[in-house]
Amino acid sequence: MQPLRGTRDILPNDVILWQHIYNRTKEILALSNYSEIRTPILESTSLFNRSIGNETDIVNKEMYSFADQGKRQITLRPEGTASVVRSFVSNKLYQESKTNRLWYLGPMFRYERPQQGRQRQFHQLGIECIGSINPMADTEVIRLATQLLQEFQCFNYKIEINSIGNLQERNLYKESLITYLISYKEDLDNDSQARLKTNPLRILDSKNKKTQEILNQAPSLNQYLGFESRNHFDLVCQYLNELNIEYNINDKLVRGLDYYNYTAFEMKVDELGSQDTICGGGRYDNLIKQLGGPHTPAVGWAIGIERLLSIVKHNLQIKTKNPTIYIITQGIEAQRKIWNIIKTLEKYKINFELDLYNNNLQKQMKRAYRSKASVCLILGDDEINQKEITLKYLNTREQKRIFNTNLPQELEAMLKNN
Ligand code: ATP
Ligand code: MG
Repeated sequence: MQPLRGTRDILPNDVILWQHIYNRTKEILALSNYSEIRTPILESTSLFNRSIGNETDIVNKEMYSFADQGKRQITLRPEGTASVVRSFVSNKLYQESKTNRLWYLGPMFRYERPQQGRQRQFHQLGIECIGSINPMADTEVIRLATQLLQEFQCFNYKIEINSIGNLQERNLYKESLITYLISYKEDLDNDSQARLKTNPLRILDSKNKKTQEILNQAPSLNQYLGFESRNHFDLVCQYLNELNIEYNINDKLVRGLDYYNYTAFEMKVDELGSQDTICGGGRYDNLIKQLGGPHTPAVGWAIGIERLLSIVKHNLQIKTKNPTIYIITQGIEAQRKIWNIIKTLEKYKINFELDLYNNNLQKQMKRAYRSKASVCLILGDDEINQKEITLKYLNTREQKRIFNTNLPQELEAMLKNN
C-alpha cells in the first residue's frame, strides 16, 4: 500500500536530518529569546477563512476541510501564523509580556497538485515576533531566517522584499491597477482575468509571460504608499544594509495571504526550479485584533522544510552513532542472564545492539562485524559457569574474558577511548 498522494514517509536516515534541523533551530532561536509553541493541527475552518482571506488560493481551493462527527467545520491547518495568533489570543499571551517571540515546526496541509517541491502534507518552520511595530522587529526576523538558512548550509538564496502598505493605500492602488488592467483584459491569462474581480493584487504574481509584459507598464504599488509605510520600509532596508544582508526590492511582491501589511518578503533559491521559494513572510499588524485580541502588531515568516532539505540534504553531514557493543548470547541461560548486563550498559550510557537470532556463533559474529560495533560481548554457558563475560574488540580482534564484576571498569575504559 502506498502513502496518500502528496504525502511522504520520513524514514530513519532522513529523520536524523529533521532532528538536526529541530535541535539547531531551537538553540539558535533561543539566543534571540524565541520559545517554541505547539498548536493543534485541527482548527475551525472559520479561523482560516477569517485570517488568510476568502479570495486567496489557500482558502479557495487548497484547504483540507471536513465536517467532524459533531458536524463542526474543521480544517487541517494550511499554515502556522493563523494558529499561532489564535493561540496567542485564546491563551491571552499578551497579558504575560509585551513581546512574544514564538517559533514552531510542524506539518501543514494543502490540497495542491503534487509535484517537485509541492506536497499535500509538508512541513514549515516558522517564527512570529508579536508585539512590536518597530522596524527592528522586521529586521530581526529576516536576519534570523538568513542565520538559519546559513546554519543549514543554504547560501544561494536571494531575498526579495517589498512594502505593501496599509489597507487604505492598497485599496487606492487596487483601483488604479484595475483601471489599468481592464483595458488589457482580453490579453490577460484566465486566472488573472478572474482575479480582476476577486483578488487583483495577486495578478502581480502571475507567471504568465503576456500578463507580465502588460504588468511592466502598470502603476506601481510604492507610488501609493504614505509617509509611515515608506518610513517603516526605509528603516527595515537601512538596518538590513547595516547587517550586510543583501536583498532586492521587488515592487510586484504581494504574497498570497490577506493579512499582511507593510513588509512582505520571500527568499528564493535557483536550484529549485519553478517551486523556488523556500521562505515567505511579512508583517501582520491587524490580524490579532481581527481574531478578537487587542491590537498587537507582529511580523514573521515560514520556511518549507522539504524544499530546504531537497537542496541542503547532501551538504548536511551529521554524525550517527554505530552501536558500541554488539551482544551475542548462546543458549537459554545466557538469554536469561543478559538482561542484567544490559542494565549495566544503559547505566553507563553505552549504546548496544542485542542479537536476536539464536543461531551459531559464527553467524552471530558476522552480524557483529556488519553492525560496525567496536566491541562484541559474548555470553554463553561456559561464561555463566565461570561468572565471566567474553569481550572481543572487533578492530584488533583481540579477545578476553573478564569477571562479571569487572564490567563497569571495562565500560569506563571504553568510554574514555571513545
Ligand atoms: P508557493 O509559491 O510555492 O505556492 P506559498 O506562497 O503558497 O508558496 P507560503 O504560504 O508562503 O507559500 O509558505 C511558506 C513556504 O512553505 C513556501 O515558501 C514553501 O517553501 C513552503 N510550501 C508552501 N506550500 C508548500 C507545498 N504544497 N509543499 C511543500 N512546501 C510548501
Ligand atoms: Mg502556494
